[in-house]
Amino acid sequence: MTETVTNWAGNITYTAKELQRPHSLDALRSLVAGSARVRVLGSGHSFNEIAEPGGDGVLLSLDALPPQVEVDSTARTVRVGGGVRYAELARRVHGHGLALPNMASLPHISVAGSVATGTHGSGVANGPLASAVREVELVVADGSTVTIGRGDPRFGGAVTSLGALGVVTALTLDLEPSFDVEQHVFTELPLDGLDHETVAATAYSVSLFTDWRAPGFRQVWLKRRTDQPLPGFPWATPATEKMHPVPGMSAVHCTEQFGVPGPWHERLPHFRAEFTPSSGAELQSEYLMPRPHALDALRALDAIRTTVAPVLQICEVRTIAADEQWLSPAYGRDSVAVHFTWVEDTAAVLPVVRRVEEALDAFQARPHWGKVFTVPAAVLRERYPRLGDFRALAGELDPAGKFTNAFVRDALGADFIKPLS
Ligand SMILES: Cc1cc2nc3c(=O)[nH]c(=O)nc-3n(C[C@H](O)[C@H](O)[C@H](O)COP(=O)(O)OP(=O)(O)OC[C@H]3O[C@@H](n4cnc5c(N)ncnc54)[C@H](O)[C@@H]3O)c2cc1C
Repeated sequence: MTETVTNWAGNITYTAKELQRPHSLDALRSLVAGSARVRVLGSGHSFNEIAEPGGDGVLLSLDALPPQVEVDSTARTVRVGGGVRYAELARRVHGHGLALPNMASLPHISVAGSVATGTHGSGVANGPLASAVREVELVVADGSTVTIGRGDPRFGGAVTSLGALGVVTALTLDLEPSFDVEQHVFTELPLDGLDHETVAATAYSVSLFTDWRAPGFRQVWLKRRTDQPLPGFPWATPATEKMHPVPGMSAVHCTEQFGVPGPWHERLPHFRAEFTPSSGAELQSEYLMPRPHALDALRALDAIRTTVAPVLQICEVRTIAADEQWLSPAYGRDSVAVHFTWVEDTAAVLPVVRRVEEALDAFQARPHWGKVFTVPAAVLRERYPRLGDFRALAGELDPAGKFTNAFVRDALGADFIKPLS
């Protein structure tokens, strides 16, 4: 490539032979039909090589396509273009008095890239962001469009697809009436005696944060819908100042706290749309496990906290309701997710990632597809009971493996789809 293209974190430099930014759907179709290997780059917020097409391939950005956001207020749906980010989508949806059910920690990520990797927020009753998707429009290998909606037997593979089926040019999402949220922050929640099920269910979305430098959690963030009750939170102390999840960082980039009510899209993410997200230089990993294992998994991490803490910026514990996407890390399991924001140093972080994976192995942990992990492929495949169905779907839509890359082959099987040479 003539220009150097990296992911958001800067730990991956894409080696594709070219980066293409088609200006129209027709140009995109011709490009796809005429290329041997294609991967789409969303907003580049993944921490691994999931978007990399390989040296002979085309990296495709949808940034130059018109940013479609078509709200149907009567049907309470929105059709959103394949390159649009959540911040823009949320602003437009809110303008119609409607809402998405949930958001991730920051709104700067693309919708198509997020649902492709199983991205999620928190909440015992909230599925991953892909749960809101009712229809996917894909430009497949020959440049034609395939539309797959709920009710189609292929739908279970179509949304959280790791980008391996085609170019997602549009998604239709379910909406609900707009709602307000208040954010309450508490400090110092002990791990000893933690009733995780109860704590996780105290509000619409709950996050626990720890740096593992001491046992227990430094902060708890509760996001309460104002149309739902807020039970008391007797287990921790209310914060006395606005807080950033990473100790010592200014809260200026964080969404409003201290129970000030505000629209859903200005409270559900941790970070404001108008500021640089998170802490910048970092790597991330995350593991989803069946929720009944939450306490044992947290104790297993507590047992290795002196190994974890030196390379950790912050660890966040969230919950996610089970979904039906075959490759979703929350597939078929109400889940607890343990997330790690590491320091930027890959060499120092990887051995600790392996220690974390060993500690969580007994709990059938499924890694987040967009983050750093080293779980062996054979182990990963055992954790996805519908993997065979996904492979069959990919074989049907992309028989020559145009949208397959090394990451997908490694994760889903070397024989996933025959590689082009
Ligand atoms: C600061 C930060 C905070 C984060 N917070 C969260 C969080 O709260 N919860 C969480 O679960 N994750 C979180 N993530 C991870 C992030 O949500 C995922 O990595 C997500 O995939 C990012 O979307 P993206 O568009 O940047 O994807 P990219 O990294 O650009 O792409 C991801 C995958 O999607 C595919 N793809 C993208 N667009 C298309 C398309 N139009 N058609 C076909 N395939 C496509 C790519 O080929 C690739 O396989 C965070 C990441 C960062 C950097």
